[in-house]
Amino acid sequence: MSSAHRPESEHTAWHEQTTVLHGDSGLSPDPDVVAPIHYSATFRADTPEQFAEMATTPRATGFYTRYGNPVHQRVEAILAELEGTESALLTGSGMGAISTTILALVSAGDHVIAQDRHYMSTSKLFAEILPRYGVEVSFFDQTDLKALEAAIRPNTRLIMVETPVNPTLAITDLSGVAQIAGKHDILTIADNTFASPLNQQPHALGIDIVLHSATKYLGGHSDIMAGAICANKALCEKIWAMHVTLGAVLSPMDAWLLLRGLRTLSLRVERINHNALALAAWLEQHPGVEAVFYPGLPSHPQHALAARQMRGFGAVVAFSIRGGYEATRSFVSGLKLATHAVSLGGVETLAVHTAAMWAGSMTEPQMRAAGIELNFVRMSVGVEHIEDLKADLAHALAALPA
Ligand SMILES: *Cc1c(COP(=O)(O)O)cnc(C)c1O
Repeated sequence: MSSAHRPESEHTAWHEQTTVLHGDSGLSPDPDVVAPIHYSATFRADTPEQFAEMATTPRATGFYTRYGNPVHQRVEAILAELEGTESALLTGSGMGAISTTILALVSAGDHVIAQDRHYMSTSKLFAEILPRYGVEVSFFDQTDLKALEAAIRPNTRLIMVETPVNPTLAITDLSGVAQIAGKHDILTIADNTFASPLNQQPHALGIDIVLHSATKYLGGHSDIMAGAICANKALCEKIWAMHVTLGAVLSPMDAWLLLRGLRTLSLRVERINHNALALAAWLEQHPGVEAVFYPGLPSHPQHALAARQMRGFGAVVAFSIRGGYEATRSFVSGLKLATHAVSLGGVETLAVHTAAMWAGSMTEPQMRAAGIELNFVRMSVGVEHIEDLKADLAHALAALPA
């Protein structure tokens, strides 16, 4: 996008409610109010020289869509602005963003440090895949920065964090991690999916690379899969070079849907923060609920840290039902408004009985080790009216045996 229509001297940073609509550079030079979809895999060059230049220019948007596309560029400008980074890169899924970033930055003989809990596929990348390529991995308890520092070795190249994390919504101290990494000159990556850039900006706290499953809040409508990498220009170019080879490319149509989703991001996140906090507080006083895990509640063991580094606490509320596995199973089946489905950050409320979901792939001891209790429910609160959500939960709780 060009800033030709607005003299630079007038430009002060937009508020984020405006950035989600216009990016950082104001009005587009094009007459379209809505960006066109460049649904083309390939682009014509006028001269052989121009073609050669396109093929060797990093992040070119008029060469071949795996290298870049004008719709991607438009979305990337908005995401970079929201995360406060110099640049951003879109991918075809959140896992595309995570795997591409990590594979771009490590080589055999390197050591990386990750949390002992991450999004399941991220844990698999660290525990099972990287070791196959000669990369050593250590895991640390995200609530213990001393454990992180103790895990550092001379060949440590990367530290990966994710906060709040599934399923207990434990928090990682982002500026604490950045300080430790800075002393040892180690790159840091944060998966910011559970917070959204409106609730938490890891880069402002010193984290180098911020990743998103844009399938969640950024898209916001549970209809597309997408991922995003936000970092400085040099890091984005380095990761892009790997991206062109791995090929986790976002389709131009889905990039356009992401652009549409972003327009309401600030409205959605504001409502979701409000609904989730209200629902968490309501659940906490209900006799049918054993415990509630939500960083916005004073009862969360890291509430003070969460309040320091987050502006809102997001959609995901985890809670445990009194009565064990069977009671939890009937509770989730009894919900009528909240849909029984995975994912988070969309406009509609979703709920899953975590232990039932993983029953086929994990043993009970494995679940306990991953922090999943048999009576855990994970709910992603949407934008419905709060009284309707409470009524749905109250009804499903009332149906449980006393
Ligand atoms: C969903 C999710 C991912 C993976 O994203 P996809 O878009 O499903 O590939 C990674 N990290 C977190 C925290 C997630 O919630």
